[in-house]
Amino acid sequence: ANPHSGNDQANRETGVDAATFFGAQQFIAASAPGRVNLLGEHTDYNDGFMLPVATPQCTTVSVALNNNPEFEIYSSTLGSAVTFGQDGKAPEGFAQYIEGCIRLLQQRGVEIAPLRMHVTSNLPLGTGLSSSAALEVATLRALRALLGFELDDRSLALIAQQSEIQYAHVNCGIMDQMASSLADSEHMLFLDARTLETRLLAIPAGSELIVIDSGMPRTLAASAYNVRRAECEAAAKELGVQALRDVANLADVERLAPPLRQRARHVVSENQRVLEAAQGVPAERFGELMNDSHYSLRDDYEVSIPELDELCELLRAADGVHGARLTGAGFGGAVVALCRSGAAAAAGARVVERFNASGRKAALLLPTTTDTRTP
Ligand code: ADP
Ligand code: MG
Repeated sequence: ANPHSGNDQANRETGVDAATFFGAQQFIAASAPGRVNLLGEHTDYNDGFMLPVATPQCTTVSVALNNNPEFEIYSSTLGSAVTFGQDGKAPEGFAQYIEGCIRLLQQRGVEIAPLRMHVTSNLPLGTGLSSSAALEVATLRALRALLGFELDDRSLALIAQQSEIQYAHVNCGIMDQMASSLADSEHMLFLDARTLETRLLAIPAGSELIVIDSGMPRTLAASAYNVRRAECEAAAKELGVQALRDVANLADVERLAPPLRQRARHVVSENQRVLEAAQGVPAERFGELMNDSHYSLRDDYEVSIPELDELCELLRAADGVHGARLTGAGFGGAVVALCRSGAAAAAGARVVERFNASGRKAALLLPTTTDTRTP
């Protein structure tokens, strides 16, 4: 179970803060945000396009040299400590994300002596807002600050991704780490997963975001994710392209048999939605694209669950909401809505209240991103 689901905005910190953890010892801290993906879901591993925004919430990693010959990693979010490095055994659990960052840097020739590290976060964990990428990117930033090696933000994101794949054994794409490393919470980051080209774009004028954690655990997410990746690879192979990103014409997918046809239709249409949105469309149109993205994820990609559908329906019916969709891989986690500036908090609060009336545990994630220009 995820102790943080349904928790209002932030984690309850169960453990001690960095100052207490380090005592008289000097330490260096660095932070990194999570991300809310506005459009472009399940497109990164198809070499496609996406539009994430960094969350105002972030994870902070503090680091200092250790006097003992081992790495000591402490998360005040979880209230637990892990040590590793002395017997050659790999750590279990959350420290894997950190061990991977350390090992990959060492493989690149960075000398890293045993360290003490403290982790804290006001992001909810395991809700599709990329607390894992925030942990990796904050770790790499803290190590870069402590040890002074050269590492640009793109390379940093690639190491963070490899840490998650090789050491935490999550076969993730590149969106989360690129967003955590290069996005900010005032803009959308247009990202091309093939070329790693990025552009910071304004969110639609006069709009703001609301994010609701459904409180539903993502039990099926990992297994379904791997099945979808395999289906996309199979679809690309049958269509004779390197990746589904290379399918220019939506009609081309119709010659595939189900379910590859539906999977490919989602990816190809989703890329088109991102490209349209990235040209700069009014908030109303952006909202429609988000709704279409959700329907496509629900009907063609089949990664939604009734609770996410219901939250999005409630949001769409609320005053001042332009559109809503699930965000993240699906099967639980969070939804995001684009709203008229000033309308988001009230709309979100009413939706959460209605949704939770039957005993469920959705939670608003505040603060959110706002654009105050007149549309
Ligand atoms: P998401 O990235 O969407 O939040 P993941 O399942 O990919 O969900 O990553 C969540 C995992 O990342 C946690 O279970 C934990 O292992 C690790 N993690 C993230 N943030 C922290 C933190 N502050 N302290 C300890 N572990 C963390
Ligand atoms: Mg993650």
